Amino acid sequence: MAEIKFKLYENIFIETNVQNPDYDGVILILYPEEKNVPKPRHIGSFLDKIAAIDKHVHKAVTLWNCDYVSGGRLIISPTGKIGPYNDARVLRDAAKKGMTRALEAGCRKPLLAVQNFVDFPEGELVSILGALEALYTPLQIRERDPTNNFIRLGIHAHEKADEKFEKVVRNAIALEKARILTRDIAGGDPERMAPGKIVEYVKDSFRDVSNVSINVMDDPKKIQKEYPLLAAVSRAANHIDRHRARVLTLEYKPSDLARVTDTLILVGKGVTYDTGGADVKISGRMAGISRDKSGAAAVAGFIKACSILKPPHLKVIGVLCLCRNSIGEDSYVADELLVSRSGKTVRVTNTDAEGRFAMADSVFKMSELADKELNPHIYTIATLTGHAKLCYGSHSAAMDNHSARSMNHATRLQLSGTLLGEGVEVSVVRSEDLAVNVGKCKGDDLIQVDMEAKGRNHQLAAGFLIKVGGLEDKNVRYTHLDIAGSAGMPPEEPTAVPILSLCHLHKVLL
Ligand SMILES: [Zn+2]
Repeated sequence: MAEIKFKLYENIFIETNVQNPDYDGVILILYPEEKNVPKPRHIGSFLDKIAAIDKHVHKAVTLWNCDYVSGGRLIISPTGKIGPYNDARVLRDAAKKGMTRALEAGCRKPLLAVQNFVDFPEGELVSILGALEALYTPLQIRERDPTNNFIRLGIHAHEKADEKFEKVVRNAIALEKARILTRDIAGGDPERMAPGKIVEYVKDSFRDVSNVSINVMDDPKKIQKEYPLLAAVSRAANHIDRHRARVLTLEYKPSDLARVTDTLILVGKGVTYDTGGADVKISGRMAGISRDKSGAAAVAGFIKACSILKPPHLKVIGVLCLCRNSIGEDSYVADELLVSRSGKTVRVTNTDAEGRFAMADSVFKMSELADKELNPHIYTIATLTGHAKLCYGSHSAAMDNHSARSMNHATRLQLSGTLLGEGVEVSVVRSEDLAVNVGKCKGDDLIQVDMEAKGRNHQLAAGFLIKVGGLEDKNVRYTHLDIAGSAGMPPEEPTAVPILSLCHLHKVLL
């Protein structure tokens, strides 16, 4: 099948003139009056006029016939009041609503006007990304009808060409390409994005990309040997070829390895469907769970961003732990005693805590590999616990191990997230979050999850990964990101977090 993708390069232009006849409508983000953001020259007085006759323009998106802009259509999308507790998300939301309204109005060649706004230093980038989000069409809908919903897109910031703004636009396009890949994988249904299909899709997406290499492990015997905990989760799915586990490794390397100063290692949870296993999810709690692969999807997306923006200082290894937690006669069950890659025994206690198993052996393998890499930092990215969502709503939880915490890593990630409109909350892994994972039965090293421990589920999951991954005592930086609340649940589109935060923090952006 031909790759179904959006045209994102050839049909996006930087425009210096909001009257360019190549467009059929202009979207303007309207800031609160008291912020005194200068309005584009041609339409300033028009805006003053309509603001005088309709105070509602600061509350809802409106569309006006205006002869001073392309296509005679002006879509005004207000940010609403901006107070000291707001962040750049107000710009993202305004741009997204404005673009959505433009498409509804029939625009196919919209021109988005963005402005510098001192309160939010990355405001231009965030606004463009918000508008691009509105243009996304889910993969399976595109495969039925590959017609693009836009023909060309213009972005206007200044009346003169400007190198700095060109970088902003190039960053936005690269980030959006990365996020499309992530949304496609995370949002694909359990069959379209079964483990085998994800491998095909990712290979296709990186075909002709010379700075990324791909390795696929799909032999069940090898997976059993090298990733025994993942293999246990996959057991009931093993007899269905497309559903059985795969470990997909992507590696980004810049052209000049001598310039590399940092190695990032990202392990993503890619549970394509989670029935809960033998501890089956009941009462309709399964709906939406195909998003349980959002962590792995984000890992692939981050590598995509690197492949386009080519950061010279980074080497990146991404591991997608792909499996399906099916239910069947060969399901793994509570009470089984498994032996992890590290040699530690792990007692199964609830088959629905499969995400930590899917990643555990990869984390251990990567923690050994990290010893040989330059300045390594390991991440796990996973929709891991409902508890993270209960604690932080639609924001990600970031948890450092001792080594990453000594550099305030999660806090720095939080700051990057705030600048780009992704919410990250710092959560602290404490000694009890490690201790609770110690095996309870005589001789057991670890338990999968202590079902009695309530109230610290997302932190103790990080504790499990630290222990099973051999990261408790050694000085390798490790940060676990629980995106269960932030990845986006149907009917919302996948959010593709935390690609923006990671790209900003690790200086992937131009
Ligand atoms: Zn589960």
